[in-house]
Amino acid sequence: MLTDGVPLTDHHCHGVVAADLDRPGFEELLGEGPRGSFDSSVGLAVRRWCAPILDLPPHVAPDEYLTRRAELGWREVSARLLRATGTTRWFVDSGYGTDNLAELTGGTVREIVRLEHVAERVIAESGTPATLFDDIDALTTVFDQIEAALRDRARYAVGLKTIVAYRCGLDFPLVDAPPAAVLPSRRLTDKHLLGWLVGVGARIGAELGLPLQVHTGFGDADLRLQRADPLLLTDFLRATAQTGLTVMLLHCWPFHRKAAYLTHAFPHVRMDLGLTIPYVGHRTSAVLAETLELVPFRSLLYSSDGYGLPELHYLGARLWRNGLGKLLDEWIAEDVITGADAEQLITALANGNAERAYQI
Ligand SMILES: [Zn+2]
Repeated sequence: MLTDGVPLTDHHCHGVVAADLDRPGFEELLGEGPRGSFDSSVGLAVRRWCAPILDLPPHVAPDEYLTRRAELGWREVSARLLRATGTTRWFVDSGYGTDNLAELTGGTVREIVRLEHVAERVIAESGTPATLFDDIDALTTVFDQIEAALRDRARYAVGLKTIVAYRCGLDFPLVDAPPAAVLPSRRLTDKHLLGWLVGVGARIGAELGLPLQVHTGFGDADLRLQRADPLLLTDFLRATAQTGLTVMLLHCWPFHRKAAYLTHAFPHVRMDLGLTIPYVGHRTSAVLAETLELVPFRSLLYSSDGYGLPELHYLGARLWRNGLGKLLDEWIAEDVITGADAEQLITALANGNAERAYQI
């Protein structure tokens, strides 16, 4: 099944590092946490699939790959890999501060606003946390300012995002009011405050028609994976089911089957396998097959979650195209689906479902 020509909407990704990288610098970005390495499925995939984009033979040795990468320079390498994804729209989570996809690709770039990032900035700008703690009026003002700042940023964005999974876990309390007394720190970790913040995001998202992206599943080393199980969101999903909000479960591995169940149970929930696909490498079609066991076909979106290395954006696309093509070939051979229906499914997953969910 030919998936190559289909344009992609990458509904969740980040910018790339604007610098040349040595081997430790490159390998650090080749993993979630400090243990990235070429000795992994994603490392094999870089050597197999990215090397030809840099005019090298497939499976070239890591050092040769990095020598060629340095020869071309980060800008040329990034432009080649990002353009080779076939992505026409990039929805960028600007929470990391690197946002250079527009200049490198020429594609359309839209912003995803990260709730915690905006809230922490407002808190940092409103004086020392200790002073706020003593003054309940000042504290109330800060909460009002956070909501106002989110509304302001949301006007120009295509979606919102929360990383509450990293901060207190996905079983955050569902509360309407901010806490009466809390010491707001520069890094939000208070469960009650975060529960309120996600609630504000959900309300703004429902009002403005902006989907709320939620980090679930694996991630950096500071994550407690058991708290990132999307099933912990069940009460939140029940509470938002009738509000008009669309919830996007991001990444999901190793809970992709559970996430698929949630999209099946709640019509306002969507999911993707961003971040997952580059890391599972040649197993992409297996993970896609497990996800498609239950996910309604309109509820699965493409994303790369590429961050730092343009190799990750490229592999997100390349492995997704390879894996989906392979899976659909099997389905056609087994008479599960017709060729025409398979083509429609590819287009829906590549960009159609994103167009509908983000109303673009
Ligand atoms: Zn991300």
